[in-house]
Amino acid sequence: MVGILLRQVSKSYGGTCAVDDLDLEVEDGAFLALLGPSGCGKTTVLRLLAGLERPDGGTIALGERVVAGEGIFVEPEDRGLGMVFQSYALWPHMTVEGNVSFGLHGRGLDRSEIAARVAQALDLVGLSAKAGARPHQLSGGQRQRVALARSLAMRPRLILLDEPLANLDANLRASMAAEFRRIHAETRTTFVFVTHDQAEAMALATRVAVLNGGRLQQVGAPEDIWHRP
Ligand code: ADP
Ligand code: ADP
Repeated sequence: MVGILLRQVSKSYGGTCAVDDLDLEVEDGAFLALLGPSGCGKTTVLRLLAGLERPDGGTIALGERVVAGEGIFVEPEDRGLGMVFQSYALWPHMTVEGNVSFGLHGRGLDRSEIAARVAQALDLVGLSAKAGARPHQLSGGQRQRVALARSLAMRPRLILLDEPLANLDANLRASMAAEFRRIHAETRTTFVFVTHDQAEAMALATRVAVLNGGRLQQVGAPEDIWHRP
């Protein structure tokens, strides 16, 4: 089963071609790194998947569903995906529980279903004990877990992440990488993240797509790309 499909996708800003006739197929349940130097187009690919940008040409499908192209454009909130930004974008005046449940209200879920989803998401990220805390009382790593829990509570099939390890202290990176891999495996959600850091790609990804100049240079398992002994 195909998780994500991009066919001949292009996107320019003014005269700058950010993504150039890109073909990419990602299997359902992958943990994909979009890797490349600054300006190679990886953030644009993430924004195209999210629906924050419209492609100039080509087709994007998530699962069996075309979300952009062929005269179709599905808005971000209707794509069934979650996003974890580098800033985490938490509400400072709300508790951890409030932040995680926020997006669940107005979705026709009853209160017990919302409470169960929040409890499960906080359990998954190991923050059940912090349900009543406010973001300023948490470490950077804990805030990131809240942002991840907020996405997980929506039960999306796909979660997009922007350099998930970049804002963490060096000594926290290895343990957070292990946490991300565990959560990915337990939830069987497809994760896609952008990074310019090969070490970050190797620490997290099951598949790596190397971009250069808006084009796909290489795609494969990390061990195929780096020929680890
Ligand atoms: P990366 O994430 O790999 O650093 P981006 O996708 O952000 O790359 O950018 C790819 C190219 O598109 C770069 O040349 C960048 O300057 C340009 N670009 C990205 N976003 C915009 C924008 N909103 N307006 C103009 N140019 C942009
Ligand atoms: P770069 O990686 O090229 O330095 P940034 O990380 O600063 O770029 O982000 C560039 C753009 O991508 C910004 O407009 C930002 O709002 C957007 N962005 C950041 N994270 C995400 C995400 N998870 N999903 C979609 N867009 C994002």
